[in-house]
Amino acid sequence: MSETKTRGILERLRSGIVQGAEGYVFELERRGYIKAGPYVPEVVLDFPEAVKELHQEFLRAGSEVMVALTYYAHREKLKDVSRENDLERMNRQAVRLANEVAREGDALVAGNICNTWAYDPGNAKESSRVVRAMYEEQLAWAVEEGIDFVISETNDYLGEALIALEVIKQLKLPAMVTLASVQQSQTRDGYDYVEACKILADHGADIVGLNCDRGPETMLPLIEKIRAEVSCYVAAQPVPYKTSARYQTFESLRTDSGEQAFPLMLEPFLCSRFEMAAFARKAQAIGVNYIGICCGGAPHYVRAMAEALGRTVAASKYSPAMELHPVLGSLVEEKHKEFLVDWKS
Ligand SMILES: [Zn+2]
Repeated sequence: MSETKTRGILERLRSGIVQGAEGYVFELERRGYIKAGPYVPEVVLDFPEAVKELHQEFLRAGSEVMVALTYYAHREKLKDVSRENDLERMNRQAVRLANEVAREGDALVAGNICNTWAYDPGNAKESSRVVRAMYEEQLAWAVEEGIDFVISETNDYLGEALIALEVIKQLKLPAMVTLASVQQSQTRDGYDYVEACKILADHGADIVGLNCDRGPETMLPLIEKIRAEVSCYVAAQPVPYKTSARYQTFESLRTDSGEQAFPLMLEPFLCSRFEMAAFARKAQAIGVNYIGICCGGAPHYVRAMAEALGRTVAASKYSPAMELHPVLGSLVEEKHKEFLVDWKS
């Protein structure tokens, strides 16, 4: 951890919104460094410079947290690509890379654990042991390499999220635990999302909320309910896709010919940077404390969100100045105004 880091995650949250950024796996897949399907972050060992580059881009764009790329870097998933022997190396290296870049700014480093696909509520006792062991080994390495807090994310099951929370708390680190919201209103083990967040908060989670699956339009109403029900900090990290009342998650989006767009045909559904900026402002207005982005995220979104929150970041030096374009200037300016009105509403 950097010695110049003056404040931890909880201290920062006490004084205002913390901006995060994720979507490393999706973005590095688009860039040709991760295989879609298994989605194991082999890039951490095979092309570490590519991971550092993306960390740096998110840092310049305004992310205050470098999330170690250990998503799916757990025993169960590494088996799928026959790299179980690289497990420890991959986990340690991911945290090291996050630290190297965090030191370049004043960013925090988050250890990262996620849904394992090993948890089975029908066989909770046995499968919990397997999940716990995976989390314990991943986080033990992360702690040795230096992390400021842990993000347990994309949790499909409250049961699995509670195991993650327990492991994080044993390490005496601040815990951010966020749920996936693939289903209409409940986790896969049958808890209403709002209720599940309350339970996590009651069990000592410092930050609860949602990540992934939903775009701004369908995540905001849910997060507003969560905000109203818990007294701890709340996090919202949507995907930048146009989910709607009809298609509430990006997994459910359909192309014009009726094919499932997830995960390789999602481009036509991408939000604009203005829409993500508007999301940041709305999340701020309802009292969300940790505002970020998930799969599909990219630096231009992060910067637009940072600026919507009133910040000037390193990458703001190259923010659009369309008034300097001989033809397009006035058109884009009109679009800006439209969204500014939207933000205020
Ligand atoms: Zn995601």
